[in-house]
Amino acid sequence: MKNIFLITLLLTSIAVSYSQEKKNEMIKKITKTEKEWKETLTAQQYFVLRQKGTDAPSESGYTSTFEKGTYHCAACDLQLFKSNSKFESHCGWPSFDDAIKGTVEYVLDKTQGMIRTEIICASCRSHLGHIFDDGPKETTGKRYCVNTTSIKFVKQE
Ligand SMILES: [Zn+2]
Repeated sequence: MKNIFLITLLLTSIAVSYSQEKKNEMIKKITKTEKEWKETLTAQQYFVLRQKGTDAPSESGYTSTFEKGTYHCAACDLQLFKSNSKFESHCGWPSFDDAIKGTVEYVLDKTQGMIRTEIICASCRSHLGHIFDDGPKETTGKRYCVNTTSIKFVKQE
């Protein structure tokens, strides 16, 4: 039973990444060496974005930001999330119920004894966080759980 679940999950993730790939043809891919990333990012940004680290849960940072604007990738500046997709999840990390179309890719993550779906920037493939199925039922039902470190907020003037 467990294997069937795993296979289904794997096929779903292949299907999702295939359809994402088609959508992402317009997104410019950014490739830098890890040395270049290290030079341009802060130590915390490098840890989270490039080494798949996780911010400590917090009610500060962007967790409590609800102003109008757009959240960009902190590594390459691609626009990832709109503020109208953001919701209060009380999980300790900024949460969104949707991403801007084609800007996020989904990767099966079997680390830390869990099966999760990692979300990465479609342009520079930096780590953003994970996606879960416990988001608001009245919208997408998804929760994009994102590290504050992985994004930067650009306020709408
Ligand atoms: Zn990026």
